[in-house]
Amino acid sequence: MHDTWAIKKNNNGGAKGDLPLTAKTAENSIVWVRDVPIGGVAAVVIAGPCSVESREQITETAFAVKASGAVMLRGGAYKPRTSPYDFQGLGVDGLKLLRNAGDEADMPVVTEVMSEEDVEIVADHADMLQVGARNMQNFALLKKLAKTRRPILLKRGPSATVKEWLAAAEYILHGGNENVVLCERGIKTFDNSLRNTLDIAAVALVKEMTHLPVIVDPSHATGKRSIIGQCAKAAIAVGADGVIVEVHPRPDEAWSDGAQSLTFENFAELMAGMRAPIRGVLTPSGIAVAA
Ligand code: PEP
Ligand code: MN
Repeated sequence: MHDTWAIKKNNNGGAKGDLPLTAKTAENSIVWVRDVPIGGVAAVVIAGPCSVESREQITETAFAVKASGAVMLRGGAYKPRTSPYDFQGLGVDGLKLLRNAGDEADMPVVTEVMSEEDVEIVADHADMLQVGARNMQNFALLKKLAKTRRPILLKRGPSATVKEWLAAAEYILHGGNENVVLCERGIKTFDNSLRNTLDIAAVALVKEMTHLPVIVDPSHATGKRSIIGQCAKAAIAVGADGVIVEVHPRPDEAWSDGAQSLTFENFAELMAGMRAPIRGVLTPSGIAVAA
């Protein structure tokens, strides 16, 4: 097993540099999650709660976000929490509730897989598997995910460089799974005004460096409900292929990440904002707006 890995690596070296499989190609890749194309002409919006809490909560959210325009449902069943005393997720019960809500609302679902031993059960229930920011360099997990046929949503580690992020994606491609979507979700910087710092330039940069689709998570990047809509719009303006946002029926009662969760109404506004033109530009001959 280990030897096969090494031999394949040697075969990949050469003209395309040290990250040959993720490197830019003539055509960008589209990753299909069931019938949803990520990386195609249109930006996609994935929405749902941070954590799956109950049948009612996840199903109600699925129908609400779909009605506003989301094409995929998110919801965590295995939660990576900073404190061991915080809610850790409903586990398999959460996976079942998420699957059921996705089926009822007819939407593909994405959820995080935290450990190698859970890959099979999560892949049995979800259409796309998320590698959380804290696990971006869990190489054993990446290698295992490379062997599944499910598309992978690979979050950028909070302290990872762009190159380390692409190298993590390279692990998954190299191991046999080409369906990787990258997700910028904010990094750690000196500034603690927000939960993280949204590295919007990295999105434009990574779009230049790789053929893989790139999406943005303005919820974890900011931690602040009131600015998530603008950041989602900025993400699309800079070239992202979509956004993933946290939405909860009653954010004040959320079991995790309530402060950054949008209400259904907030989410409808975000969707409307994404469709509106960004702003006219003042020129010597007047205000220019996109056609
Ligand atoms: C999440 O999506 O709920 C999550 C925990 O994200 P991240 O790994 O980016 O912190
Ligand atoms: Mn969250």
